[in-house]
Amino acid sequence: MKIITKLLDALRLDPVEESESELKISSKNIMPDAQTIYFKNGKMYDVYPTDETSWYDAKYLISDGIFYDLEDKKSLASIPVPSFKENNLFEGYGITGSLEYVLKMKAANLRNKGKIEESDCIYKRLHLFMSASDNGYQEKDYLNYSRILLREGRFEEFEVEEKRIKEYLKTVKTCGETFDFYNIKEQLMHKTLSDCKRFGTDYIMMSAHCACCEECNKLQGRVYSISGKSKIFPKLPDKIRKTGQVHEGCRHHFSAYFFHNDGEDTVFNKMGEHVDAIKASQRPFVDDRSEEEKQNYLDFLKRQESEKVKKEDEIVYYHLVKELPDIAPKSFSAYRRMKNSRSKNFLKLVEAAKEYGINIDLD
Ligand SMILES: [Zn+2]
Repeated sequence: MKIITKLLDALRLDPVEESESELKISSKNIMPDAQTIYFKNGKMYDVYPTDETSWYDAKYLISDGIFYDLEDKKSLASIPVPSFKENNLFEGYGITGSLEYVLKMKAANLRNKGKIEESDCIYKRLHLFMSASDNGYQEKDYLNYSRILLREGRFEEFEVEEKRIKEYLKTVKTCGETFDFYNIKEQLMHKTLSDCKRFGTDYIMMSAHCACCEECNKLQGRVYSISGKSKIFPKLPDKIRKTGQVHEGCRHHFSAYFFHNDGEDTVFNKMGEHVDAIKASQRPFVDDRSEEEKQNYLDFLKRQESEKVKKEDEIVYYHLVKELPDIAPKSFSAYRRMKNSRSKNFLKLVEAAKEYGINIDLD
């Protein structure tokens, strides 16, 4: 009897346990037990539960029909970069529903919850999603993760990551084409010239704005002839044709132009107004900037320079936090204020930092 009871008990218990665990697994597949977001070609089309208004901390992702756990390292590392084709930002959830953006927000949320390794797992591959989405990211967006490592005092990893991303950007893949992010102007010009050829036009238009340098001001807001054979439009300067810009850091862009010669051909002037294309293109090549426009340009240069200094300051500051925690200011902005004031305490800090091999550049 004893043996039979034991056998029965064993038989009764085991199947129950098994069916329970099976149920758990299958329910996860059918009805997710936590917030789930659904994507197709890198674009979100559904959220579960449907009444959720935020989805940046969803636990599960279904991307192109495959299930991923956004809080599991192995699963995170296996999310493929989607095609992002037909990824129109003006439809659906816009940028807030684009996979690279949602992953970025999730990585930040994981970090806030102390899940650093899971967060790292997303950040390490985020650049691939950013470039594939072609949503106009700048270098600083790509370097976001390296700055996080810096702020966390992970200096060696910061340097490796910064180098890795800068290297990546030299051959970044967007829409099936490979670009050198640091030489984009030349490549854009190349593309515009081939567009012109394809559409059978000899004309190219230069954009215009009112915060540019003397040289650009003379040249901007005109139509140019690529061949130089036009009797109406001036020849596209060789330098622009070759490099796609007037000078390093030039913010002008060039596009194919279609000339109808019906008296209604226009271009945009620096105020953003439609003006007669022939008149604008034949105006004298002189610097006609107002004092305000000149100041705009100087302000732009100043902003650019202060951005650079800020980035360098940040590196110094986080090294101070690590090496001299007792005397380093409590926040980066407090450090910046202190540095700008050149206070006695700041000069003391400069001296103390020297002993740790940290050189504070006083500009
Ligand atoms: Zn320019």
